[in-house]
Amino acid sequence: MSAPVYDSNNIFARILREEIPCKKVYEDEFALAFHDIAPKAPVHILVIPKGPYVSIIDFSANANAQEIKGFYAAVAAVAAQENLDQAGFRLIANTGANGGQEVPHFHVHMLGGKRIGPMVAD
Ligand code: AMP
Repeated sequence: MSAPVYDSNNIFARILREEIPCKKVYEDEFALAFHDIAPKAPVHILVIPKGPYVSIIDFSANANAQEIKGFYAAVAAVAAQENLDQAGFRLIANTGANGGQEVPHFHVHMLGGKRIGPMVAD
């Protein structure tokens, strides 16, 4: 798949360039994790890859194996660091218009700290 056009001025690209601040939780070569600015649960962390990928579709098709492995390893590292791994959490990747994706830089939401409600709102 050819890569879609990536908007390098999206808010997460600007966070990666440190043009705007974030409440950082974790960072390594492949990923950055930070608290969502409008948390929907007691713990609401976003994990983003460092590369310029619009969505999980773009990431899966166009990131290399190291980037993909590194990204999911970062999600697991955040789960361990934030004590989400034992009690559990929900991982969400909103994708495109029907998925309600607002920021066009691939990210996953990690929601925890309590029992998260129904999987999809009515
Ligand atoms: P999505 O709908 O999956 O694209 O989610 C985008 C998420 O980014 C929303 O939950 C927003 O609250 C969050 N968000 C937007 N701007 C910021 C920011 N500057 N820092 C942290 N989270 C943000």
